[in-house]
Amino acid sequence: MKTEKLSIKIIRKIVFISIILIGLLTIGVMASRSEVNYVTIVFPEDCETTVMTSKVLVSDILAENHIIILPDEEVYPSENANIDFTKTITISKATEEKTIVAEEVNSVSTEEILGKYVTVTEKIIVEQVEIPYETITKDVSSTGTETKDKVIQQGVNGLKEVKYKVKYQDEQEIERNVISEEVIKEPVNKIIQISTKVTARSGARNAASIAASVEGMTPKVVNLNTSAYCSCAKCCGKSNGITSSGAAASEWHTVAAGAGYPIGTVIYIPALADKPNGGWFVVQDRGGAISNNRIDIYMGSHSSAIAFGRKTLECYIYQ
Ligand SMILES: [Zn+2]
Repeated sequence: MKTEKLSIKIIRKIVFISIILIGLLTIGVMASRSEVNYVTIVFPEDCETTVMTSKVLVSDILAENHIIILPDEEVYPSENANIDFTKTITISKATEEKTIVAEEVNSVSTEEILGKYVTVTEKIIVEQVEIPYETITKDVSSTGTETKDKVIQQGVNGLKEVKYKVKYQDEQEIERNVISEEVIKEPVNKIIQISTKVTARSGARNAASIAASVEGMTPKVVNLNTSAYCSCAKCCGKSNGITSSGAAASEWHTVAAGAGYPIGTVIYIPALADKPNGGWFVVQDRGGAISNNRIDIYMGSHSSAIAFGRKTLECYIYQ
């Protein structure tokens, strides 16, 4: 009986120890399996929350907390990764920089696509172009001849054949280069015989000295758009009759010209040779709207300035 009791006691002890051992093992396994973490979740607006979880996969932790990642948001670490030692999940808005980069990539590819459809064609074309004649003067003052302002040879324009290489982009000309030029007909110069002496003799006293001052000089002959002005406010915006050169303007003498004609430049206009000045003028004034292909002749009254009108006249420029 005693041995029976003893063996029961031993069995009880064994069972008790076994139960304790099993219990300890179970707790150990449980503890290792269900490690509880505090994980911080950071949201794009810089607010954050800390959750308690036994999960380690980012997507699981997010799902557990009913957090949905929007299409324009990014998660770090990524959803299919485990949380790292920082125990932090950061949700951020996809950055604007990235959006811009994407747009740039798009625009480049658009250009590339367009580039493939722009057609540039090249053609060789031949055109006939006029060669303008030149007017040259022949001063016969020294020969003592009475001939003045006589056209001794009419000018005739020449002609040349020009070969161009022309580039077109979608039928629009974009570039033109001369390949060759061939003169078909040489221009014939217009030759005018002039005599400053003769002109001076027929002009007024003032004109005589102007003409004498340019004697022997070869003028440049140009066609200028000629009009007239007076000292009134309508013509000048002021009315004291003082020119840009400082000299008082005088009728049939003062001319306003562009910057291409220095103050003091003598201009002879054959078409006005019958005027009191014999056609001789001096640049003494400037005008805001006066370009180099225009001159303005000073008149004593507004009505005579209007009466003069506007005409293209051949001018001999002595400068
Ligand atoms: Zn006026």
